[in-house]
Amino acid sequence: MIVLRSTVFLVTLPFIFCAFLTSETHKERADLLVTGGTVVTMDGSRTILDDGAVAVKGDTVVAVGPRGELEARYTPSQTIDAKGKLVLPGFINGHTHVPMTLFRGLHDDATLNDWLYKYIFPAEAKNVNEEFVRWGTRLAAAEQIRGGVTTFADMYYFEDAVAEETKAAGMRAVLGETFIDFPAPDNKSEAEMLAYTGKFLKKWQGDTLIHAAVAPHSIYTCSQKTLQDAAALARKYHAPILIHTGEMKKEWDDSLKQNGMSPVQYMDKIGLLGPDVVSAHCIFVDATDEKTLAQKQVGCVHNPSSNMMIASGVSPVADMRAAGIAVGLGTDGPAGSNNDLDLMEEIDLAAKLAKITKLNPLALNAKAVVEMATIDGARALHLDKEIGSLEAGKKADLILISLDEPNAVPMYDIYAQLAYALKGSDVETVVIGGHIVMRDRKLLTVNEEEAMAKAREYQKTIAASLGMK
Ligand SMILES: [Zn+2]
Repeated sequence: MIVLRSTVFLVTLPFIFCAFLTSETHKERADLLVTGGTVVTMDGSRTILDDGAVAVKGDTVVAVGPRGELEARYTPSQTIDAKGKLVLPGFINGHTHVPMTLFRGLHDDATLNDWLYKYIFPAEAKNVNEEFVRWGTRLAAAEQIRGGVTTFADMYYFEDAVAEETKAAGMRAVLGETFIDFPAPDNKSEAEMLAYTGKFLKKWQGDTLIHAAVAPHSIYTCSQKTLQDAAALARKYHAPILIHTGEMKKEWDDSLKQNGMSPVQYMDKIGLLGPDVVSAHCIFVDATDEKTLAQKQVGCVHNPSSNMMIASGVSPVADMRAAGIAVGLGTDGPAGSNNDLDLMEEIDLAAKLAKITKLNPLALNAKAVVEMATIDGARALHLDKEIGSLEAGKKADLILISLDEPNAVPMYDIYAQLAYALKGSDVETVVIGGHIVMRDRKLLTVNEEEAMAKAREYQKTIAASLGMK
């Protein structure tokens, strides 16, 4: 009997092995398979898959579907077990100034005018150089990855250094070099700004992570000529244009006085608006402006923390969405106008600010604000073909959020949990362009200890430069 059994085994083993080989060879290769989580796709039908999976090849999502189906179809070189977690497209921070992390908390509870002229402009003149920008960007990358941000839009100086550090951190970004009508820390004249930015746009053309952009600061800090020259340069390279729009009552009043029209109408009149423009804030916009912004396909970015902290006003987000404008979310700051880069806080505040302003709890709901942080944020940055949802063909930018926290249970509604209960610190794992940049809360692309130590050093030199203790 024993002999017979062994013979049977020996005869059948090759068949079993062959069958295994055949089924494995029929499988497609994938570089990464995220399996077993609740996948909140943010696709056109807002599909949510319980026990779902996401397959990635290179920097691209190749399939999203039920776990069993994708496990049968793919042999992955790497797997992330997402069981018991939420899997989302990475958050999009549509407006910030990342090197300003090093000015975090420098002087708060001030009017915007005092903050700018007494603190920030002198501090920038004395401290901002390429090295400063690099350290600030590294610190911001660590903070943003920890909070689940995979793409951000930035406006600052030495933006080429911001781009190099962002790429080194493995993050995706739209990075705008600033145009402003006074000598900036990097470029002292419009001619220098044009030359620097031209080189910057050329250098990053075709990069998979970095979208180099042009950032005329605003209509009140740039002449018509500066605005038009900056836009022409951007359009020559098919680069986005980032600008602050309708942020302050004074900007609205001055534009009516000087231009005889609203800031948005003035921007339209001088040929600035188009489907390549990202307007931060859009607080002071009327119904006609909303129609213009929608018609010109301008993306808008709402920054609730910043608007509340500087007491700028409240952007009519629900009206803008109803008018067909893509409205994303941003942190602004991270100094003076919001001292952190936590986009999940903005998700929460965007809904609550709209509710309290309208005295209506239905004014902006949880699903809407999660859309603003993902797919609508991508539309606002004109990157929705690339990012914003988990779908085959899009870039593999995704995050895993822990549900094993006291503030995460029980969960009745996923969007409400994301908007009102979960925190940026609940983000566990972050993938950008198929690369794991944080795994189980361990950062893999940024040396955060070094960046934090440097930030503490900068605090001393910056305070001393302003005669502070
Ligand atoms: Zn700003």
